[in-house]
Amino acid sequence: PQGIVSRLGSRLLGRAPSAPVQALHRTDLELKQGEVVGLVGESGCGKSTLGRIVAGLHRSDTGHRFFDGKEIDRLQGDEHLRSALNIQMVFQDPYASLNPRIPVGRAVGEAAVLHGMVPRSEARARVKELFEQVGLEADWVSRFPHQFSGGQRARVGIARALSVQPRLLVCDESVAALDVSMQAQVLNLFMDLRQQRNLTYLFISHDLGVVHHIADRVVVMYLGRIVESCPTQELYDKPAHPYTQALLASVPRLESRKRAFIPLQGEIPSPLSPPSGCHFHPRCPHASERCRQEAPELKEVAPQHMAACHLFS
Ligand code: SF4
Ligand code: MG
Repeated sequence: PQGIVSRLGSRLLGRAPSAPVQALHRTDLELKQGEVVGLVGESGCGKSTLGRIVAGLHRSDTGHRFFDGKEIDRLQGDEHLRSALNIQMVFQDPYASLNPRIPVGRAVGEAAVLHGMVPRSEARARVKELFEQVGLEADWVSRFPHQFSGGQRARVGIARALSVQPRLLVCDESVAALDVSMQAQVLNLFMDLRQQRNLTYLFISHDLGVVHHIADRVVVMYLGRIVESCPTQELYDKPAHPYTQALLASVPRLESRKRAFIPLQGEIPSPLSPPSGCHFHPRCPHASERCRQEAPELKEVAPQHMAACHLFS
């Protein structure tokens, strides 16, 4: 369909180093051109795995990636490459993946050169432009990774992702390592780039305050499943799923709103052996016998608002 940037088919499998784990189950995700989708959930819920599959860094055993209506991984040669490069990942700490001995400008330009998008002779000039667009001094292209602060390294990571002219950025905890004022600056940069380049974002974060600030729509995951999805303000004002309600109640920054939800209790069960039925049932104050037996389907509970919970069926 028109306008859809990426869509994943049902039942995606991730792999742990040892045994195969079903990390994701029937996880469909659609992003519209220019949209910012926040993907939230506690650690281990599969949001990073889903992000890496969208970005093509993990293969899904049975899922499919579509971009502009075409299945990316069925395309061949140049067409496949161009389609795949449309989706780039911005990591939490680009420092870890930057070679300390190579000037950052060269590292940032490398992918574009490698994929034939820029002749090597022009790469440096192109990276200088990119640096200015992300708020770095053009001359800093010749600096080494250790000469950058945390906030500057985040910008280097963004420049690197942008170097191949993507249309969708997958940001996995991209501002998590930064202090609050630096976070705000980098989030503003993301929003400026969205305007300038008509970018689409899949913004993965455990921080509901950050997601509230940046996302148009929020998708909530719990133990490998999407449990709720709706426009951002609606999620924060009228969360439908008991898990989302508990998650929001556990955020002190958001607690000033009047809210009578129960706090999130108990450990997150292991994704290796998730609970039967609704995965949330051991922690849910509304759990019934049906919840222990039968997994709820994601259903429309209000216009543009999906939730997977037996309370709505
Ligand atoms: Fe709670 Fe049952 Fe809804 Fe799961 S399906 S969230 S256990 S009420
Ligand atoms: Mg993660």
